[in-house]
Amino acid sequence: MQNLTILGSTGSIGVSTLDVVRRHPQRYRVLALCAHRQVDKLFAQCIEFQPRFAVVADLLLAGQLRERLLAAGCTTMVEFGPEALCRLASLPEVDAVMAAIVGAAGLEPTLAAVRAGKKVLLANKEALVMAGAVFIREVRESGAVLLPIDSEHNAIFQSLPANYRGDMAESGVSGLLLTASGGPFRRTPVADLVHVTPDQACAHPKWSMGRKISVDSATMMNKGLEMIEARWLFNVPADNIQVVIHPQSVIHSLVQYVDGSVLAELGNPDMRTPIAHALAYPERIASGVAPLDLFAIARLEFEAPDFERFPCLALAYRALKAGGSAPATLNAANEVAVEAFLDGRIGFTEISRIIAGVLEALPAVDVATLESVLAADRAARALAQTLVAAAVVA
Ligand code: NAD
Ligand code: MG
Repeated sequence: MQNLTILGSTGSIGVSTLDVVRRHPQRYRVLALCAHRQVDKLFAQCIEFQPRFAVVADLLLAGQLRERLLAAGCTTMVEFGPEALCRLASLPEVDAVMAAIVGAAGLEPTLAAVRAGKKVLLANKEALVMAGAVFIREVRESGAVLLPIDSEHNAIFQSLPANYRGDMAESGVSGLLLTASGGPFRRTPVADLVHVTPDQACAHPKWSMGRKISVDSATMMNKGLEMIEARWLFNVPADNIQVVIHPQSVIHSLVQYVDGSVLAELGNPDMRTPIAHALAYPERIASGVAPLDLFAIARLEFEAPDFERFPCLALAYRALKAGGSAPATLNAANEVAVEAFLDGRIGFTEISRIIAGVLEALPAVDVATLESVLAADRAARALAQTLVAAAVVA
């Protein structure tokens, strides 16, 4: 029996995780469910899974949830705030932590799980993008087991040799092919992108996801963040990672070997597959995902990404090459710009312009400590907010 802490249980990944867990009550026990503001959803999850702990954003919400749980006869203890997240991610009785908070807010609780040497199921790519060097150093020091949930990275993990130790040459790996659906605007005339709405940007053709990552998919910043994520997870340099647009989203990514072999993982686009893979690793369990029907799919297509249509992809590539604080700066500026777009404060095409402005104004510096990463994050957020305000006025 494995005890789980789920960070971000009310989100898209959190809900898919609980769906897999629900199918295997003899294997997994939910010890802690952590959410932010969606108390109704968290209440229902507590009633079903009876965790020992639940976490919400603040004292007020904690009081509301506590009262409702008490009235329903549920003994779950309710805590609140970032320290509670870190504590419950590192409790001695926890075996595995699903890191599925969106954005930089997930960094410290995920690092707490890493430092406690847990099995860490990493969906929260922003944490690794911001703090890659610190994160990987902590994994090495604590002996934590890091398993990628992002479908592309999970596919690469499955396509690498089982004993891969971060040395491409030793394993005969020549490169990674990172597939991308191209998002909802792959064929939209570039001149029309200035008018697209948040709902249009969030209507992803293949994957159903939270709103932030949906906008990232529409700008293709998501693929940029994933290049940086791949660099840290697999120790592969930017020049050996190629982005391939593959609209069917059936091939989830590929590994190329020096002998010309290319290995890939395929499946229906449903996050329960990588979640089940990582939960049970190195065993296999059912996920509830329908078997792949190649006759129904019939055709797999590939095309090169268009950097003019998707300037965010070029910005992420530049940040990856620059190294140091540049990925943290990129990520912070993106989080601020995407939130402003979702709130209707800026247009879609302003997102890349704001990120470019922030990257230009804040040159990369070394970030060897968590404190220096957080300082870079704060500086980029402040500048991005200023640029958002200026964009609204313009
Ligand atoms: P979501 O918006 O659906 O859910 C986010 C979760 O984080 C919610 O439970 C929310 O309560 C919690 N949260 C938000 N802000 C918080 C804060 N400040 N403190 C504590 N909790 C907070 O997002 P999602 O689509 O589930 O994505 C989660 C992460 O997984 C993201 O980093 C995303 O990039 C990554 N990911 C998602 C998918 C997908 O298919 N949804 C695929 C690959 C990677
Ligand atoms: Mg992905």
